[in-house]
Amino acid sequence: MSKARIFDLSLFAAAAALALASPRVIELDSTYWTALLVYWAFSSFYFQLRIVTRSGNSTIDYAISYTSSFGVFAGPLGTFLFEGIYRFTVFLYKKKTKTEDPGEFLDTLYNIGSFTLGGTAAYYLYTLLYPYAAQIPLGYWLLFCLITVVIMLLTSGFLVITFALSGDIKTRKEALNLLLRSRNLLDFTKVMLTNGLLLQLLQMREWEMLLALFLLNYVVSLSFYSKSQSAQHKFERDKFEQMAYRDFLTGTYNRAHMDKMMQELNLGGEVIGIAVADIDRFKKINDSYNHAVGDRVIVHFADTLAAHMQADDILFRSGGEEFTMFLRHKTFEDCLAQIQRILDSVKENSVTAEYEEQDITVSYSASFGLYYYKTGAGRKMSMEQGYIYADQLLLDSKKLGRNRLSHRNELAAVPET
Ligand code: GH3
Ligand code: MG
Ligand code: MG
Repeated sequence: MSKARIFDLSLFAAAAALALASPRVIELDSTYWTALLVYWAFSSFYFQLRIVTRSGNSTIDYAISYTSSFGVFAGPLGTFLFEGIYRFTVFLYKKKTKTEDPGEFLDTLYNIGSFTLGGTAAYYLYTLLYPYAAQIPLGYWLLFCLITVVIMLLTSGFLVITFALSGDIKTRKEALNLLLRSRNLLDFTKVMLTNGLLLQLLQMREWEMLLALFLLNYVVSLSFYSKSQSAQHKFERDKFEQMAYRDFLTGTYNRAHMDKMMQELNLGGEVIGIAVADIDRFKKINDSYNHAVGDRVIVHFADTLAAHMQADDILFRSGGEEFTMFLRHKTFEDCLAQIQRILDSVKENSVTAEYEEQDITVSYSASFGLYYYKTGAGRKMSMEQGYIYADQLLLDSKKLGRNRLSHRNELAAVPET
């Protein structure tokens, strides 16, 4: 058997011996069993909200611990019985849900030992110091602060020892981290206040208030827990959506997003300019250099287009080196001017790329087709149809010699004949 396992068992044995040898603090009567039942029920309930972290081969659960109040109330033997019943309930639950670790049984004995010793320490500290604490203002709460600190250090200390023995932690820094981690001030205050109040209610046999306090504790934690869960879900959903609708190379929206947007805009009846842009003789760039240089040019073109987008405009990579822009909420003349600025910018700039371990500059041009109209119901006025027209206009630009814009304004007044 490993050293760590021997330590775990010794802890359990020490707790059992202490529980049996200590003078009896409380009658194991109906009051005791009522308290035990309430604590057991809520500890078990609470167990599902625990935070689990992994350290090497071992998992650590951080469930809220009610050990200090129960320890002071019930003394060593009372705590031992409570911890035994509660920890075995968790053990059976984990077995049933098949979430148990390989050494779960010994872990359970370890937990019973560790927390019984914590509860016992709480009992003796309280008995010893309460007469003095009672004489100063807020003395009770100061004492409970002390008790909470001692229990946390004690149980974390046992954890450090068993991890050090099993080789899960090796350096002093790791040990210190484990001792202090996730024992933040908020957790500490929660445990301290809850246990301080619970003990007062126990001593007054205020069962209904006790239940209410447990419930409050549970509900508040549950609400935070579900908030953090849904925040996590939203984060993952957003990330997934971003991945699904973005083009990997350029970071612009992809064709899937364009299709989705077209369907949405079909319903709008808005005046829109659909502009399609395609790099000229791109195959030659790919062939003269390589695909990596070609990619650099595509990214450069995408960046140029993106830099010229305005408030509500949307840019998509609709094909290999073809991009589509939805130019929105502006006049036809504004659309023309906007595309002219893009043409100028492409002409004035070139791309630097690495080719055969040298920096090269590549100049390129692009052709555009702009279709300006009012979307509406029906296939003829749909965005899909508008896109086909814009694509045809792009083809006109190519035929006319490239590096230019061809356009049609469907809303221009038809001259009278
Ligand atoms: P045109 O002026 O008529 O548009 O001539 P073009 O050479 O640009 O003709 P076309 O549009 O048919 O060629 C597009 C080429 O772009 C074909 C394909 O190999 C290449 N391509 C498509 N996607 C990518 C990409 O992601 N990276 C690179 N490097 N090349 C791509
Ligand atoms: Mg092309
Ligand atoms: Mg093309």
